[in-house]
Formats: sequence, C-alpha cells, structure tokens
Amino acid sequence: MALKITDECINCDVCEPVCPNQAIYQGEEIFEIDPDLCTECVGHYGEPQCVEICPVDCIPKDENKPETEAELMLKYERLIELGQTTPTQSTES
Ligand code: SF4
Ligand code: SF4
Repeated sequence: MALKITDECINCDVCEPVCPNQAIYQGEEIFEIDPDLCTECVGHYGEPQCVEICPVDCIPKDENKPETEAELMLKYERLIELGQTTPTQSTES
C-alpha cells in the first residue's frame, strides 16, 4: 500500500529528495505523498527510503490503500513506462 505522512511531520524536507518516484511534495501544511506514485520503494529499494530517513517516524502505511507486492511492482513498471521514474542502479557489487 502507499505510505502517508501524518501531521506529526516537522517539515524537515529530508524525505522529498530520497524518493525515487518523486512521490513526495510540500503540501499546504506538511509534506504529502502522492499514492499514485508511491510504490513503497518496490522496484528500487528493499525498504521505503522516506521511512528510513524520517527523524520523527511519521510515515506509516495508508491502511485505506491496500496493495500487494505484485501490484506495487506493476505500478513501478508503469511509472518507468511513463518516464516518471528511472531504475535505481544497485550499489551492491
Ligand atoms: S516509500 Fe518510497 S516511493 Fe513511497 S514515498 Fe517513500 S520514498 Fe517515495
Ligand atoms: S522526513 Fe518526516 S518529518 Fe521530515 S518532511 Fe518528511 S515526513 Fe516530514
């Protein structure tokens, strides 16, 4: 499922640049996640990068938008086709 940012967000802006899908943006009051663009980082990384970096732990899964791993992978592939995201090169050798 897509992730969402709660109102505990302190607008520190460290999550926006780490999102490989450009799904995070500054909303009216706090940062927000576009659920059509968030793949939980599936296709790019093993763990959601925004969750890893958020200092106040305010990015839970959005229980209203359940998606399976396979659906997230399909979303990722569609984003690639649309040019919305580019494959992440693995840093592991
Ligand atoms: S989980 Fe990944 S794709 Fe979704 S908003 Fe966070 S960094 Fe972006
Ligand atoms: S990292 Fe967390 S606190 Fe900082 S802007 Fe993103 S959601 Fe908000």
